[in-house]
Amino acid sequence: MESLESLHEKAAAGAGLTAEEAALFLERAGPEDWRRAHETACALTRGHFGGRLFFFAPLYFSSYCVNDCAYCGFRRSNRALRRRALETDEFLTEARFLWEQGHRTLLLVAAEHPGHSGAAKIAAHAGALRAAGMSFYLMAEVAPMSVPDYRVLRQAGISQCLLFQETYNREVYAAAHDGPKEDYEWRKGAMERALEAGISRVGLGILLGLNDYREDLCALIAHARDLRTRYGKFPATFSFPRLRSAYGLGPTAGEGKEVTDEQLERIIVLARLAVPSAGIVLSTRETPAFRDSVLKKGIGVTHLSAGSATAPGGYTLTESGPGGQFELLDHRPLGEVLRRTKEEGHRPCLQPN
Ligand code: SF4
Repeated sequence: MESLESLHEKAAAGAGLTAEEAALFLERAGPEDWRRAHETACALTRGHFGGRLFFFAPLYFSSYCVNDCAYCGFRRSNRALRRRALETDEFLTEARFLWEQGHRTLLLVAAEHPGHSGAAKIAAHAGALRAAGMSFYLMAEVAPMSVPDYRVLRQAGISQCLLFQETYNREVYAAAHDGPKEDYEWRKGAMERALEAGISRVGLGILLGLNDYREDLCALIAHARDLRTRYGKFPATFSFPRLRSAYGLGPTAGEGKEVTDEQLERIIVLARLAVPSAGIVLSTRETPAFRDSVLKKGIGVTHLSAGSATAPGGYTLTESGPGGQFELLDHRPLGEVLRRTKEEGHRPCLQPN
């Protein structure tokens, strides 16, 4: 069996860690191992990203959903939610607001619904942005699609797709999902199909609070390495959102599955050691204090949302609420977060290279 010392050396050399090695580290690392791992994560982050921090804003365009995920405000059974699918003019009003705030990267987000959030609808929205002269870098976080549908997204100018497995534990996955999303394999294969369709950047993620985070982190690393083996590149980003309360729902983490700040920092550190080149996303689900503290430590976060809303129309259409997907904890506008990160010595970037 490998020693922890050999894992430290392998990680420091930038050679990454396998899922099995990450599991071994999680099982046996003591405080001094974590201190060293933090140092290594800082060095790898500096080496790969050189202080760059990438900013984006989510633009939700539909909250109609055919699924009933236990943890989500958009779930089918949430009758209190005021649902909305943006018309093109509404979508452009939202996008224009974000453009004027200074955003240049958009994450198009929608709940799963064949009529409101299929590939053709996303392509139409992307085309409307181009016609309106807003040359955003476009990402999409939508339901799993077929290879031909991902081709439609690529041809429409979507440069990156994100899709989170939520949990890799099949039993927990089955218990949390009801609807088409129950199909674990279809979801797990989605980013593979996106790569197959020529979308060269994909993002993986886990929803922390559903399952034992150690199991899901190791499975995520295994998934990332599998994509690397078959498509020649690691995922562009990892996301580690923690479960938050959502409209119509109380606290939602599974019993004993809550992830503390210290544990989330360790997740970020180990993800950086395992896949040194992957961007790590920290969203406005986290508090300003936690986001600032993690950035200051420099352990691995490279992608931030800022000034976000999680309801279709949430930026400009005041009559749209209540309708967010989940609760946000960092409400600072983009300008304020940019200023703060510059003061801390980071180099904010509004679009990836
Ligand atoms: S997590 Fe996604 S699929 Fe599930 S209810 Fe929410 S929007 Fe629908």
